[in-house]
Amino acid sequence: MTDLAAILPDLVALRRDIHQHPELGFCEHRTAARVAQELRALGLAVHEGIGGTGVVGVLQGRRPNVRAGGTRTVGLRADMDALPITEQTNLAWASRTPGTFHGCGHDGHVAMLLGAARVLAADPDFAGTVHFIFQPAEEGQGGASAMIEDGLFDRFPCDRVYALHNWPSLPAGTIATRPGPIMGAADKFRIVIAGKGGHAAIPQDTPDAILAAAALVQQLNTIVARAVPPSQAAVLSVTEIHGGEAHNVIPAEVTVIGTVRTFDPQVQERIEARIRAMVEGIGTAFEVRGHVQYDRYYPATINDPAAAADALAVAATVAQAELAPEPAATSEDFSFMLQQWPGAYIWLGQGVGERPAPLHNPHYDFNDDVLETGIRLHCALARHWLA
Ligand SMILES: [Zn+2]
Ligand SMILES: [Zn+2]
Repeated sequence: MTDLAAILPDLVALRRDIHQHPELGFCEHRTAARVAQELRALGLAVHEGIGGTGVVGVLQGRRPNVRAGGTRTVGLRADMDALPITEQTNLAWASRTPGTFHGCGHDGHVAMLLGAARVLAADPDFAGTVHFIFQPAEEGQGGASAMIEDGLFDRFPCDRVYALHNWPSLPAGTIATRPGPIMGAADKFRIVIAGKGGHAAIPQDTPDAILAAAALVQQLNTIVARAVPPSQAAVLSVTEIHGGEAHNVIPAEVTVIGTVRTFDPQVQERIEARIRAMVEGIGTAFEVRGHVQYDRYYPATINDPAAAADALAVAATVAQAELAPEPAATSEDFSFMLQQWPGAYIWLGQGVGERPAPLHNPHYDFNDDVLETGIRLHCALARHWLA
C-alpha cells in the first residue's frame, strides 16, 4: 500500500518541474520521457511514441478475472501539452521557456495520473487492466485523434475511458460532471465569394462580391434563431471579412470567416447544411460563386449516461460531487475518445479563497491542493470499474 500523503510532496515537486519545462503540442519530448521513466519505475509495461509523443502505461490487476466476455479494461487519460502564452505569475516554478506556459493545468493532469499509477501499482487489488493514457497536443491540434489513428484503442482497448480537467470556477474539493454533452463542438468556416472584379462605376457588368458577402452575413446570423430548436443551444459568429483594396474597384473576391459551437451532432449537421444552402442561394441571387470550407476540428464532448452516473457516485466517495447543470461552450479533444468508448469527462474544482485565474490566463497556476482529490478520483474510478 502506498500512503498517498507520503508521496504528495514528491508529486507537487514533479508537477512544478513539468510547469517549469512546458512543451507545446506534439513537442512534449521531455514530459513524455519523464512520464515513461516514472511508469517504468513502477514496473508497468510502457509504450511510447503513440500519435507522436503519446505514452501508454499498462497495469494488470492481480485478481483473476472471472467475468464473461473477457477482461475488463479502463482508460484514464491526461493531456501533456502547454500553451503559446507568456506566463505572468512570478512563481518560483514559473516557465523557463519564454512564450510557453502550462496555462491550462495539464502539468497537474500529468502529476495526478502519475500519482494514481503509483497508488494503483502499489496495490493492484482489482480484476482487469488499467491503461494510463498520456496524450499530446490537446490544445487545438487533436492529439487524441492522432493517438487513435496510431492504433491506441486497437492495442489498448478500454471498456471505459475517463479524463479529469481542473476547473477554476468550481471550488476545490468539488467534482462535477453530467450525462450527455459537457463540452461544445468547435467548427470553423471559411467562405469565399468569387465574382469577377471590375470598375465600381460599371456595376451592371460586375457581380458584387461585397454586397453578396454583406447579404450572406445577415443570413448566417438567422440560422441559430430560425433553424435550431429553441430547446437546443448553439452559437454562430462571423469573425472576419476580407475583400477589396481600392475605393473604385469592385473586388473579385471576398472571404467570410467564422465559428460554430454546438452540443448536439444533429444541430451541428443542420447548421452546416444551412450555411451551404445559403451560400448556394447567394451565388444564384448575386451571380457570384461561393465556396464553403467547413472544418469540424473538435466534436462535442458527450458523456455516456451510465459512465457519468458512475463517475458521480464514485466522486461522492472522495469529495463533494455535483451534477453540472450545463455544458461549457469550450471544446476538448477527449471527445474523440468518447466517440470510441463509453466514458466521462469530469471537472475537478480548483478554486481557492479568492477566485483563481481562469484557464488560458497568463496568471493561472494549477492548484496543488487538489492533486490528492484528483489522484483519489482516478484510483476510485479504476477500482470501481474493475471491482
Ligand atoms: Zn486549454
Ligand atoms: Zn486543458
